[in-house]
Amino acid sequence: MNKKLENLIDNLMRGKCGLLYQYLNEIEDLIYDNLTPQKIMLHYNIQEIHKNRCKCIIHNGDNNTSLQFTNKGFKCHSCNTTGTLLEFIRLASNLKTLNDAKIYAANNFTNINLPFYDVEDYKSKTKLAIINKFEITGSYITKDYYDISLLPNGYCNFKDNKIEKSTENIIIKSNANSKVSLDQELTKIEQEEIKKYGMPKYIKSLNNASSSKLISFCKNSSKFINKELLCNFMSYQYNLSEVDYVDNDLFLITKPDDLPSKSFSGILNRILFPIKDHFSNTVVGYLCRSIDKNHNTKWLLVTDFNDDGTIVEFNKGNFLYNLNKVKDKQPKELWITESIVDAIKLESLGYSAISSMGVNLSITQIGLINKFFGKDIALNIFFDNDSNNNSNTGKEMSYKLCHQLYDYGFKNLNIIEIDSLYGKDLTEWAINIRNNILLKNLVETWYKNRYTFNINDFSEINIIKDKTKATTNSLQCSSPLQLNNIYKLITMLENYLEKEDLKNLELSKLMNIDIEQFNLFSELLKNNIITRTKCFSELNIINLTEGQYNLLVNYYKTEEILSIDSHCNKRQISSIIFNTKKYKKSIDLSKYIPSIYNNIEDSLYEVVVDNNIPF
Ligand SMILES: [Zn+2]
Repeated sequence: MNKKLENLIDNLMRGKCGLLYQYLNEIEDLIYDNLTPQKIMLHYNIQEIHKNRCKCIIHNGDNNTSLQFTNKGFKCHSCNTTGTLLEFIRLASNLKTLNDAKIYAANNFTNINLPFYDVEDYKSKTKLAIINKFEITGSYITKDYYDISLLPNGYCNFKDNKIEKSTENIIIKSNANSKVSLDQELTKIEQEEIKKYGMPKYIKSLNNASSSKLISFCKNSSKFINKELLCNFMSYQYNLSEVDYVDNDLFLITKPDDLPSKSFSGILNRILFPIKDHFSNTVVGYLCRSIDKNHNTKWLLVTDFNDDGTIVEFNKGNFLYNLNKVKDKQPKELWITESIVDAIKLESLGYSAISSMGVNLSITQIGLINKFFGKDIALNIFFDNDSNNNSNTGKEMSYKLCHQLYDYGFKNLNIIEIDSLYGKDLTEWAINIRNNILLKNLVETWYKNRYTFNINDFSEINIIKDKTKATTNSLQCSSPLQLNNIYKLITMLENYLEKEDLKNLELSKLMNIDIEQFNLFSELLKNNIITRTKCFSELNIINLTEGQYNLLVNYYKTEEILSIDSHCNKRQISSIIFNTKKYKKSIDLSKYIPSIYNNIEDSLYEVVVDNNIPF
């Protein structure tokens, strides 16, 4: 490698690593939201003996309860190791740094699917992508490489960093030619997977499935299915009758003796929803729904079990639930749900539905939609309404997904918001009203009230981004109404705050302000100041002009104004006027008025007078 190329790579890598660390910091809260001691114990296959107590796998001791978890951290009473939950993951998975632990946790405990498994992997893959691009373009210009990113789409938010700002422009530009962009991106992902696994991840998933003991067991063991409990549960929990799901091959075993081996005990008392490959129609993995209240984790994604009972996780990113069936129907509209059961329920009502098994779509999943339906299909995004939580993830991710799909060239996008009155998703509504005809009518109503994505509704994103420290990524989670509110609020705040102060405001806090109330409140304040002060002619003012008085009255109390009038000379007055106008708020008068806060002797000293006074 020549020296010039080495320098180029070094320069680029510094920026790319900075971006990774910033991204990992930003998702840290999200990671913690998804971490519980129970999830961690399940993941590492540690048995919980008492609440939050288990064996310590760090020093591998014999005491079954030496390790104690809290919601924030852990402590081992034998080896005295202690730390956060992320630190536990770092130790348990033998990772070098906390950033490595964050990457591992993001991939294994959240919906995020990062295409790298630690910092070193990120570096080597990024470097490889740069070299590949160099081989094609031969360019030594750094900005030609800004579009290379392994981070989730749209994440490049060094707001004050010119380099990253131009990255966004380049991404937007390349998206103008979106058909190429999606294909290029898919090719890039596949090439990286081949380099890492020796084959595309999709093929690897198929290989895992074909050698899975669990899948072959389920296929040949329908006689063990507890049909009665399965029917009862599906009816009770989702208002689904057997005809609705009979061809979905659901599986449920409740007797331990029916299991071929103890290592399969993870499927006991869990309904297995098979996820099938879109080409071969064969099972590639299961989403397992617990029906046992004592289970710590409600949902598991499984391809197989290792001999010691640990999970071989199913990689959902290469598949879409129900795509194998829907793809042959050539529907004009395709519904995308967050959960598998919502897709089953929609299908039972006569709609064509797939499930992304979460609120994100991987690029590969978007590629699948494109491959089977093309970019003109109407996509109806029908995620959960989490409006009872602090943040409505389903709604936010619907908008985010629309931007992503739009960038890849999909233009026919609808967001269908479920009314939260009787539940956050379709199946919750189903069991609360237990009337499928009414339910279908409701779906039609929600559909009629759909939001049809129009990129012009989001033009305020760029303005808001320039004036605050909000990122494109976070703003793309907002509805047009929310954006408009934020925009109005910022416009109002501009009257009170300096540009830099505005930039320091947390947008997430602004979002919760009721704009109408804010408006009213600021009007009240203004009027109150004006009515409680006397007008110019009522006061015996000597030095101030009426114009100066009318300006000062907005910012100072009457006695302060009288004190300015009686103590300041003309230069000091104009200095006060100038600075008050400049900062649009009251300034510290003690620097300008002799003797207000000082002794008489002090008042003889020179008082601050600013240069460039306009009169
Ligand atoms: Zn220990």
